[in-house]
Amino acid sequence: MITQQDIIDQTNRRSAHNYNPLPLVLEKGRGIWVWDSDGHKYLDCLSAYSAVNQGHCHPKIVEAMVTQARKITLTSRAFHNDRMGPFLEKLCQMAKMDKALPMNTGAEAVETAIKAVRKWGYEIKGVSDNKAEIIVMRDNFHGRTITTISMSSEADYKRNFGPFTPGFRLIDYNDPAALEQAVTPNTVAVIMEPIQGEAGIIIPDDGFLTKARKICKRHNILFVLDEIQTGLGRTGKLFCFQHEQNATPDLLIVGKALSGGLYPLSAILASDEIMSVFTPGIHGSTFGGNPLGAAVGLAALQVIEDEKLAERSHILGDYLMRKLQLIQTNRIVTIRGRGLFIGIELDPSLGGARRYCEALMKTGLLCKETHDYVIRLAPPLVIEKAQIDWMVEQIAAVLQD
Ligand SMILES: *Cc1c(COP(=O)(O)O)cnc(C)c1O
Repeated sequence: MITQQDIIDQTNRRSAHNYNPLPLVLEKGRGIWVWDSDGHKYLDCLSAYSAVNQGHCHPKIVEAMVTQARKITLTSRAFHNDRMGPFLEKLCQMAKMDKALPMNTGAEAVETAIKAVRKWGYEIKGVSDNKAEIIVMRDNFHGRTITTISMSSEADYKRNFGPFTPGFRLIDYNDPAALEQAVTPNTVAVIMEPIQGEAGIIIPDDGFLTKARKICKRHNILFVLDEIQTGLGRTGKLFCFQHEQNATPDLLIVGKALSGGLYPLSAILASDEIMSVFTPGIHGSTFGGNPLGAAVGLAALQVIEDEKLAERSHILGDYLMRKLQLIQTNRIVTIRGRGLFIGIELDPSLGGARRYCEALMKTGLLCKETHDYVIRLAPPLVIEKAQIDWMVEQIAAVLQD
């Protein structure tokens, strides 16, 4: 009889220890639920960092994947395939953008965005060779490649990985004056998350995105939003920037829930003008735009639309927030969130959120701490009210114990 501990031991023996998972082994998922290999059932409050907004193994997305897997999976972009067009058509229509460029992981899409804005800077704005600067926000998270960690202010992400990619200028998040000051004639873009997820669900002041966009317009700089985590319904709108009146980005980066968690799938979206910097041979990816990923992506987007997941996130997120605020405990410093994207910040003197996540696991709720003191709540958006009630009961019990 192989136990979960045996599997964990084997994994630890053979895997690099670049993660510190909670001690359970999952083997099945349906909707908001996941099961460990002993058959215990848990409510997934992390949704693979918002990659499974549609719920685990959504039948329509699984069906699209299996059907496509039997036809053709990879053509390379040396040839057209019949799935990429319909997928990008749907994505562009939903995001109200002219064109999209499909990649695989989120970090690759961020790298693609950086290539796009630099090239735009040299070829359209007229910045001199190799001088392009990009303004980024302190405490951001844009991925784990060398260039995306070069954008980061987090020592843990960077230690002993240098030398780093130059050309980034860090400023405080949520500070329009600092943004204005950081602009130089060589600035080509500002890249930010509309809510900083990994930093602990940090929500900027109302109007910050609009102000940032305005500053960008005034100085002929591209306004780029990384909505890999906040996009596709998570915050109660299809895209988080839609919470503000005039915050539409010039370039939008999506990933994670773009495939409903079935496949690594990401993209950048932009206007015809910006996308025109890409010409044949200039950029690419063997798997980017492949028919299997495109079929999955199209189905995943259709589910978000058909099941009104952004609206659900808005309504149920408000409901969850109201219920969490009724929990009587002095362990909570603050609760913040938008839609079903909520962070419970705990009193730092309690020694971190990890042991509360471990306690919640024992009650059947899977959460992951972010930045030591914050419990992130981001269940699949297909969750129902009664399940939220149950979830809050478990959280209250653990935080009041
Ligand atoms: C997850 C994430 C990324 C990186 O995506 P990967 O698929 O892990 O490379 C980039 N930006 C944000 C905001 C993310 O949440």
